[in-house]
Amino acid sequence: MIYNDFRGDRLSRLGFGCMRFVNDPHTGEIDQKKVNDMFDLAISRGVNYFDTAYPYLGGKSELAMAEALRKYPRDSYYLADKFPGHSLPGPVDNIALFNISLQKCNTDYFDYYLLHNITEWSVKIYESEEYHIIDDIVKMKNEGKIRHLGFSFHGGPELLEEFLNRHEGVFEFVQIQCNYLDWSLQNARRKYEIITEHGLGVWVMEPCRGGKLAVLNEKNTARLKELDEKASAASFAFRFVQGLENVKMILSGMNEVFQVEDNLNTFESYKPLTEKEREVLLEMAEGMKKGVPCTACRYCCAGCPMGLNIPYLLECYNDYKFAESVSASVRIDGLDEDKKPANCIQCGQCAHACPQGIDVPTVLSELTEMYANGPKWADMAKGRQESIRKDLNMK
Ligand code: SF4
Ligand code: SF4
Repeated sequence: MIYNDFRGDRLSRLGFGCMRFVNDPHTGEIDQKKVNDMFDLAISRGVNYFDTAYPYLGGKSELAMAEALRKYPRDSYYLADKFPGHSLPGPVDNIALFNISLQKCNTDYFDYYLLHNITEWSVKIYESEEYHIIDDIVKMKNEGKIRHLGFSFHGGPELLEEFLNRHEGVFEFVQIQCNYLDWSLQNARRKYEIITEHGLGVWVMEPCRGGKLAVLNEKNTARLKELDEKASAASFAFRFVQGLENVKMILSGMNEVFQVEDNLNTFESYKPLTEKEREVLLEMAEGMKKGVPCTACRYCCAGCPMGLNIPYLLECYNDYKFAESVSASVRIDGLDEDKKPANCIQCGQCAHACPQGIDVPTVLSELTEMYANGPKWADMAKGRQESIRKDLNMK
């Protein structure tokens, strides 16, 4: 196993993400034996970092993780959990919620604790005086119940920079979605740079884009086989992020023993990508995208009569086009009403100004449709809000 030093901790470079445990088909509950087997194998080969979150698997991930770790001494591994500010039913007793997580994880401190899922929408909750989340969580750190404080982030680079400037000195690490596709698709490259410029550690989630970079189409599979006959597609994705110097932790949400085995082999030793391999991965990423080639030059912005943040909206569009998910819709939720794509009056100024020849008005019409008809965070959060109410005995 390769390790990283981070502020006095020796972290295994591969961390175990606990959001994808599978159910036993007979009981319909998490297959605890499989979780135990995967953890035993991972620990025997050097993994020492386990990452969960309050809402993962309907609140059962924390319990299954704690069960699998029960036989190991608490100081032999690092535990990471997250505060669900983006899923709250309203202002709640944050410390009571934090204590429930401690209890479910069978511990009295977290080594790493994160504000979960900061976006242009959820940042308003995290920073609201009424919710006083950051103050309460910092209090937990000051009391020794959190060793290192960070946040997971799904917004754009502008927000990341602003948020870090507003909270200088509070956070030690930031977890971002980073892989060879999102390097440009979600501008992970700029986010990586911003975090590094602030002197914080980069934690990587979704190194294989939820498995999409582990199972490629025939053409891309053949391209990778030409580079290395024996290596798995996932191993190339991991090696891409391993090569980023300030990446201190790479999380993989493993759910099968063979997957743990393959990942452990990749993290046994550090084998940087060659120039050629890196070039091939970035070329493949370009071919996987289905959106528009906006370079965020902003030439179109000054003349927009509605003052729309066009490159931001095109980032959301590209995200929607790659795979329908709630992440783009949450970013649009975070905009003021008069900055949402429906405010485009189709004047066409931007299309004339764009050196990439992007037909922005048509793209924004399509985005308006996708936003209106796609999945919404408000619907998805209902179940989570309900379970928080129940856990806190709220009406
Ligand atoms: S077409 Fe829409 S986005 Fe483009 S300049 Fe006009 S109002 Fe702004
Ligand atoms: S001018 Fe074109 S490439 Fe530049 S930000 Fe606007 S849409 Fe993107």
